[in-house]
Amino acid sequence: MTAPRHVPVRRCVACRDAQPKRELVRLVRSEAGWRLDLAQRAGGRGTSLCRACALAATGAAGLGAAGLGTAGAPDDTAARLKGFRRAFRQDAAAVTALLAPIASTLAATVPAVIGEPDARPRTNGGMHG
Ligand SMILES: [Zn+2]
Repeated sequence: MTAPRHVPVRRCVACRDAQPKRELVRLVRSEAGWRLDLAQRAGGRGTSLCRACALAATGAAGLGAAGLGTAGAPDDTAARLKGFRRAFRQDAAAVTALLAPIASTLAATVPAVIGEPDARPRTNGGMHG
């Protein structure tokens, strides 16, 4: 029986999905506003956002960087974006601006969420492909 190493888990503020801390994008709020804490070491009041939600927040720009047009957007992008806006409220635009520069990096690191090759379709209808 192998004892798995303890992995710190955090919950995404937008979709509430619990993921390993290092898989999440950490944002820290300071007097100057939100900033990215990519090293996850900054003190202060932090919040975590999963990569899929961060990518959804960057919208078409992020999806474009991933080489997916909006037509390739996963079904839950709208829900993730809604959660993101609810979590950050009036700061949503500022946080989106913070995330935009790393959108392509995010896109490269969320293959399991976006464009998963062996993802099974959720419905049999196939109305939208
Ligand atoms: Zn999320």
